[in-house]
Amino acid sequence: MSLDDLYREVILDHFEHPRNRGKLEPHDVYEHGSNPLCGDKLDLYLNFDQQGKIKDVKFEGSGCSISQSSISMLTEAIQGKSYDEIKKIITNFKEMMLENKPNPFTEDEDLEELASLEGVKKYPVRVKCALLGWTTLDEAIDKKFIKK
Ligand code: ZN
Repeated sequence: MSLDDLYREVILDHFEHPRNRGKLEPHDVYEHGSNPLCGDKLDLYLNFDQQGKIKDVKFEGSGCSISQSSISMLTEAIQGKSYDEIKKIITNFKEMMLENKPNPFTEDEDLEELASLEGVKKYPVRVKCALLGWTTLDEAIDKKFIKK
């Protein structure tokens, strides 16, 4: 099996068996996101522990396999992480999708699945699908930690 095939299977698995699907009631932060270009939608719920780390994350969403699998991977990637750690993952993910740098996740045991989405770059119109969860997450955690 080639790496491309393997990555396709990872994406399909998350699309068909999304992790952490559902609502969180009560929740600390809720954020809605959408990608009108493709029709992808996301409702993201976050709960934090006393130290400000992610205690629980759930999502409801609809749309294409790229958007939904990316969100499903995201919910696993940020479990137990702090604001700074999440910001770093978001930055790395955006760089992976928007710039030509070595993939930041291939050497990272915990975040290796995220590397599977790099192939989406070949289809520029789909990059926004892959980013939807991450831009929504970015706004959600800023809402919690950056007082506006
Ligand atoms: Zn999409």
